Amino acid sequence: MRMETLAVHAGATPDAETGAVVPPLHLATTFEHAPDGSLPHGLIYQRTDHPTQQRFEQALAALEGGVRALYFGSGMAAGSALLQCLPPGSHVLFPHDVYHGFRHLALEYFARWNLRCDFADLSDIPSTHAALTPLTRLIWAETPSNPLLQISDIAALAELAHARGARLLVDNTFASPVLQQPLTLGADVVLQSVTKYIGGHSDTMGGALVFGAGLDALAEQVFRTRAAVGLHGAPLGAWLALRGLHSLPARMDWHCRNAFAVAQALGAHPAVARVHYPGLPTHPGHAVAARQMRDFGGMVSFELAGGREAALACAARLKLFINATSLGGCESLVEHRASTEGPTPTSPQSLLRLSVGLEHPDDLVGDLMQALAG
Ligand SMILES: *Cc1c(COP(=O)(O)O)cnc(C)c1O
Repeated sequence: MRMETLAVHAGATPDAETGAVVPPLHLATTFEHAPDGSLPHGLIYQRTDHPTQQRFEQALAALEGGVRALYFGSGMAAGSALLQCLPPGSHVLFPHDVYHGFRHLALEYFARWNLRCDFADLSDIPSTHAALTPLTRLIWAETPSNPLLQISDIAALAELAHARGARLLVDNTFASPVLQQPLTLGADVVLQSVTKYIGGHSDTMGGALVFGAGLDALAEQVFRTRAAVGLHGAPLGAWLALRGLHSLPARMDWHCRNAFAVAQALGAHPAVARVHYPGLPTHPGHAVAARQMRDFGGMVSFELAGGREAALACAARLKLFINATSLGGCESLVEHRASTEGPTPTSPQSLLRLSVGLEHPDDLVGDLMQALAG
């Protein structure tokens, strides 16, 4: 089955009890035991598992080409659950521009969790190789990365990790399963911030991990950790996430088309020093992205020739692009990342990040041109 068909039908079997075409939303926190104490439906308590979440997990596992998916209350909860399952003393290799929430987590909590980490340029295989240590248990890739849209070669990283007995996780949030399937390229685990493209409407928080073949023991350990620590997602969130999946391929198509138009227009403007979009042939990761992605996504970032002041002024003049964090919704957003990253920002001060939404491309380009004209 092709992606568009799978997305509409995955997890969407009509309700056996009523025939309802749309899945029921089960809010129950507890489930009835049989007289002998067994669990007739395998469910006991919402923190451990619940039916709406199970539907979403089956659908997402199918879309990512994985064996098992686990749903969480947020992308951060999903990532933390996996990190908490690493053996004590493990070393994790992150990319320099890893999502700032995980950078914060690593710097603030790893010592307490008895984990170590380093940050390297994962778009470069020799420097990634050089940064591995005998204790490296996990390479954590993010491609395209947030907010620099750097591309790393998933198949090459998987080979590197496996040669050392380590695992490869890919944060697939920017691409979504529609544009990239890391598990089919050799990755072991995929992370999704469901809050973004999968939810797709800026109205539900969620996260997910999807495990490839042979990872059953790790998936089971993470499942138990989710329940033990209470990192599960609520039923309504899982229900909205499942609804989002059905339209994901159609939305991604339009996001990609709009983002390409925006990236091209920005690239031709004299006030713009640099555009970061893997769909442009001038992007250093273009060839790898073209090989491992179906299209290049809806995220674009660019640097203003006039630096920080010009970037802030441009964001303030935009009318359609709302100045807010997050991404993947129908509405276009703009953000000066360095301002949101706390006291030690890693994003360039001259950089604005765009989540290109589902408006008409001419309206979006027009808005950017008037904002750049000043
Ligand atoms: C937003 C985001 C996360 C964190 O997800 P939450 O749902 O906000 O917890 C992780 N990785 C990337 C790439 C993100 O954009």
